[in-house]
Amino acid sequence: MITFLSGGTGTPKLLRGMQELMEDRDFGVVVNTAEDIWLSGNHLSPDLDTVMYLFAGMLDTSRWWGIRGDTFTSHEFLQKLGIDEFIMVGDLDRAVHIARGEMIRGGLSLTEATEGLCRRLGVQAAILPMTDTEVTTMIVTAEASMHFQEYWVKHRGAVDIVGVERRYQTPPEATGNVLSAIEESDAVVIGPSNPVTSISPILECSGVREALRKQFVIAISPFIGDQPISGPAAALMRVSGHEPTSAGTFRMYADFVDLFMQDTRDPVEIDGAVRRDTLMVNRGKSVDLAKSVLEIING
Ligand code: GDP
Repeated sequence: MITFLSGGTGTPKLLRGMQELMEDRDFGVVVNTAEDIWLSGNHLSPDLDTVMYLFAGMLDTSRWWGIRGDTFTSHEFLQKLGIDEFIMVGDLDRAVHIARGEMIRGGLSLTEATEGLCRRLGVQAAILPMTDTEVTTMIVTAEASMHFQEYWVKHRGAVDIVGVERRYQTPPEATGNVLSAIEESDAVVIGPSNPVTSISPILECSGVREALRKQFVIAISPFIGDQPISGPAAALMRVSGHEPTSAGTFRMYADFVDLFMQDTRDPVEIDGAVRRDTLMVNRGKSVDLAKSVLEIING
């Protein structure tokens, strides 16, 4: 088994390539839940949804969120009723959020709810929420702080930010399933996900860094030069005190990473890093990168 740490875009692109080379049941995927939000009474978990839909063969891979072919009738009708959800939620996607909300209200943990949903959707991979308690990435501006989804989806990242913080009632602990998956894997792969909003929340769950230090860990950079391939990683790195480059990313993982991979085009030099074409612009490119990662793991 190989365990991946994942957000909702960069690592899922790598997972799609890996799927061509490994059996789904040999995947463990630890997923960031710090972007979860209750919306209209239902439980959205953007990164869990993306990874789950990928393994269920339902993901809309033109957007890397939502279900392929989904309709937005409920979203539009809600607008007519005066409920302006700032996140586009498809009808089938909403059904999943309703089901998860009901399960959690009924007393199931997020891990159990995810297991239940995965079973019903025919997912064979072990998809593991990083923690079972609520933790939220908040984006801090000069005037206020807002949920990450509000910053990125509602305001499209077009606000001046001064910081990033995690909000929780109890400090997040990694679940037992997460720690066992890391310990029992042949290797751990940190895909090219946002270091601040996707990977750090997982690393901050107690027990994760210690477990990673005992494992063989490969991490892939989401940066080329001072720009991420997509998304707000550069601004978020800057306000969190990290250089928005592969070097800054490497430093965030330095205490546990065994092999760091950066793009062949990246002008930033990191001692000991390996270089590959990491731009997964299509399925074929994802498979090529996945092959490189597996070759390294299999020595
Ligand atoms: P989010 O949950 O949607 O923010 O998704 P992730 O955190 O999983 O992924 C976002 C990160 O993926 C961004 O920082 C991008 O730079 C990176 N990314 C997206 N596509 C690629 C790609 O093809 N190659 C590499 N190296 N990074 C990518």
